[in-house]
Amino acid sequence: MNAKTLSEVDPSDLAGRTVVVRADLNVPIDKGVITDDRRIEASARTLRTLVDAGAKVVLLSHLGRPKGGPDPKYSLAPVAKRLQEILGTPVRFVPHSAGEGARSAVAALAAGDVALLENTRFLPGDEGNDPALAAEWASMGDLFVNDAFGAAHRAHASTAGLAEAMKARGHQAVAGSLMALELRYLGGALDRPERPFVAILGGAKISGKIDVIDALLPRVDRLLIGGAMANTFFRALGLETGASLVEEDRVDLARATLERAGDHILLPVDCVVAGEIAAGAATRVVERTRVGATDRIGDVGPATRGVFAREIAAARTIVWNGPMGVFEVDAFAEGTLAIARAVAAACDGGAVGVVGGGDSAAAAERAGVAERLSHVSTGGGASLEFLAGAVLPGVAALTEVG
Ligand code: ADP
Ligand code: MG
Repeated sequence: MNAKTLSEVDPSDLAGRTVVVRADLNVPIDKGVITDDRRIEASARTLRTLVDAGAKVVLLSHLGRPKGGPDPKYSLAPVAKRLQEILGTPVRFVPHSAGEGARSAVAALAAGDVALLENTRFLPGDEGNDPALAAEWASMGDLFVNDAFGAAHRAHASTAGLAEAMKARGHQAVAGSLMALELRYLGGALDRPERPFVAILGGAKISGKIDVIDALLPRVDRLLIGGAMANTFFRALGLETGASLVEEDRVDLARATLERAGDHILLPVDCVVAGEIAAGAATRVVERTRVGATDRIGDVGPATRGVFAREIAAARTIVWNGPMGVFEVDAFAEGTLAIARAVAAACDGGAVGVVGGGDSAAAAERAGVAERLSHVSTGGGASLEFLAGAVLPGVAALTEVG
């Protein structure tokens, strides 16, 4: 599947045209204040392209998880304000997600105007993929641009449904710049990686990422595993893990994975342990064979960081998802920060390094290296599903090229 992209639409075809855009403006908001505007920044390129071409832009997004009805806590009003600052062009906030109020605001648009409709999830039909709602949004314009990679793994009315409805009207549904970028980097790593190809997986659970492990194993030259996920693999090797987080019901799965993987999987050789995972805890570095009965593993140790960093330094393609430890607590952050720095250094040397996952992206920011990475995915669940080889409904519904 090769989705048509906005860059393949002639700008002269956009002038004066009403374009419906689905973006992922789902940013964290604390008491009306946006605490992280990266998703708004990331959506700006598509919107600038459309504004500069003189299109009339009808912008849709979800925000948070309102329970199928309006909730002021999840209003997009503050997002409209921030978007206007970022774009440097007026963004009109429309306090209706659809219906008469939305339609009259759309009818009043002039070339180059942007109208952000209220949170799509204020209508239960969005997550329910209601065809009537999708058709209503499709009727507002004559081109659909889906730029919401972070929402592409779910078939909702404002994503896949809207694309289908726009195509049913004889119009096109194309990928926006951000969506295209995500597909290029994540898809490129999977389909035509320059080798060596090294993947690094971490985070809390194997269960959420076993599909990613299965999909990556046959493609990568090395799979480096850290985080609590490694603990379950330790148990599969018969090692003591003390009071660490382990998924008991996945130990057999981990064992089978290790048998299949041969030397493709590298596990940590040492760990940072403590009696409790908390700020100020007294930590020790131990070999993985020396974890005590009451120890909790909170991070990968220095020897592991060295082994992993050497693999990363030799790689030409790197995909990283999941922290190596409880990086939220300083005493257990160094393994994750070391990996972030190693990936950035490899990118400086010309490797392609892609980071997926919300916590991993936050760790890359915290390490101060995010700008040096080839690509930091804006999609949490979507990038994981993509890496696991799933077809994303929001992508599959777009107009095909070639
Ligand atoms: P991402 O958001 O990048 O996909 P995950 O959500 O899968 O990452 O995992 C992140 C979480 O994993 C973090 O909250 C981190 O504290 C936790 N974690 C990592 N290593 C450990 C560990 N050894 N013990 C407990 N939790 C861990
Ligand atoms: Mg996470």
